[in-house]
Amino acid sequence: MHWDVIIIGAGPAGSACAWELQRKGKNVILLDKASFPRVKLCAGWITPYVFKLLELSPDDYPFGLLKFNRLIFHFKGRRFPLPTRQYSVRRYEFDRFLVERSRVKMIQHEVKKIERTDNGFVIDETYRSKYIIGAAGTHCPVYRTFFKTGTPRDEAKHIVTIEEEFEYKYRDSNCYLWFFENNLPGYAWYVPKANGYLNIGIGGGAAALKKRSQSIQEQWQQFINKLDKLNLVRGHTFSRRGYSYYLRSKEHTVYNDGAFLVGDAAGLATLDMGEGISAAIQSGLLAARAIIRGHPVSYTVDKIAKLSFFKLLFPF
Ligand SMILES: Cc1cc2nc3c(=O)[nH]c(=O)nc-3n(C[C@H](O)[C@H](O)[C@H](O)COP(=O)(O)OP(=O)(O)OC[C@H]3O[C@@H](n4cnc5c(N)ncnc54)[C@H](O)[C@@H]3O)c2cc1C
Repeated sequence: MHWDVIIIGAGPAGSACAWELQRKGKNVILLDKASFPRVKLCAGWITPYVFKLLELSPDDYPFGLLKFNRLIFHFKGRRFPLPTRQYSVRRYEFDRFLVERSRVKMIQHEVKKIERTDNGFVIDETYRSKYIIGAAGTHCPVYRTFFKTGTPRDEAKHIVTIEEEFEYKYRDSNCYLWFFENNLPGYAWYVPKANGYLNIGIGGGAAALKKRSQSIQEQWQQFINKLDKLNLVRGHTFSRRGYSYYLRSKEHTVYNDGAFLVGDAAGLATLDMGEGISAAIQSGLLAARAIIRGHPVSYTVDKIAKLSFFKLLFPF
């Protein structure tokens, strides 16, 4: 079978790209190694800008959505409540919703080998297309095959995380963020979600942690002790998981002769807060529009925001 575009990875970057291509009449499929709905480690904090990009009103989102009118920041022990308007979603629901909304067929398939042909690409000797979109996150096979040698990852922007999302009868429905506590080169979060779910986690720069002879596991232990002390989470048996990804670097090669990188595969999360959902969606849409215009080389990520803080101050 031959498609105009094959998208590898059906997270927000891949599904946004699929949605845009499909509604402009392109013949496109999504390949993802997971069966959806699937768990994706993520605090699930989304900005109003995400809804704007998706051309969707928050009221029309059919799954659990919690609205925050303020975020409670802590910097080295000092508390700063910030009035804003933000949301939390469960990625388990959100990502499935985006795939279904795209109305693009998804095939469960883990991509291993990608080869160039005279008129495009062939994936695992089975799936053929003119263009391929690498939307498979940090370990994306499109990055590995066509970009890694020329554009190695910037290890100074490497973030390691630990988190857990679980059902919990939380009594405090505020969203808390703790920056740089216990000498952590990053921050920890407590994000309530709709329908009785809670997400807690911690993330920090891998290189800085190493330099300080710290481990993210030790930081996690201190964090859950803190949640206990603050009576935010008690009596829960933790079952944490880890993931790593890359923040924005200075140089970005995201297009290579028919192959595109979008979302985490391109390393686009914001430098201050590691917010990656909006950049994933935006880059997916930009890649799709470059294909629709028939001018794929025009795809760049230069205009995608590098910082989140302004979106918190001016969310509307
Ligand atoms: C702990 C943590 C908390 C975070 N919290 C937030 C937050 O609150 N707000 C925010 O905006 N960002 C947050 N981020 C960042 C955000 O999760 C990512 O930037 C975002 O998910 C990127 O979307 P994506 O579509 O590029 O990739 P992903 O969502 O990772 O999707 C990639 C898809 O590719 C598939 N895949 C992988 N390999 C293959 C393969 N070989 N073949 C086929 N399919 C494959 C996977 O199954 C997956 O479905 C967080 C990240 C972490 C780790």
